[in-house]
Amino acid sequence: MYHHSLMKDYYRNLHLSYTPRELGRYNIPEEDLNDQWFNWLEKTWYWHVLTLAAIIWLTLGFEAMIMLVFVRVALTQLGHWFVGYISHVRGYLNYNIEDVNETGFNNWLLGVFSFGEGFHNNHHACPQSARLGIRWFEFDLGWLVVRGLEKLGVIYEVHKEPSLDQKHKAQLLKTQ
Ligand SMILES: [Zn+2]
Repeated sequence: MYHHSLMKDYYRNLHLSYTPRELGRYNIPEEDLNDQWFNWLEKTWYWHVLTLAAIIWLTLGFEAMIMLVFVRVALTQLGHWFVGYISHVRGYLNYNIEDVNETGFNNWLLGVFSFGEGFHNNHHACPQSARLGIRWFEFDLGWLVVRGLEKLGVIYEVHKEPSLDQKHKAQLLKTQ
């Protein structure tokens, strides 16, 4: 549970940078750490944004570039932070997760609009699962995208079913 205010969270998340002292604690697979494609994206991502901005400026004009690049990025960053904050403060639970410092909550409206991110209690219970909506009414747009990409063969070995993470001892509540 978060014990700090919305404004403190806003300041910390959107105005401070977070750099882990050692990556080892996150158990990132070696093959991902040394993946040429990921490393190239990490080193050059800002050129992709600037190139897109230049193309939009040249083809659609300055105001379109401001809206489609700067405003879009600002809104998605703000939205991502807001969903993350609310999802750690209030909402309903599908899972009771033991032995953790903080838990996540599900918020239906945020979950639908954020492609599943707002079904955060499910995510905390089953962190490896690409599927974040579990109950029939938890409409998970992100999961539809993942399934589509899998059908096209773009991605594979997707963790499909919400297997419970034994480390967290998450238990499905009887409301299911
Ligand atoms: Zn979380």
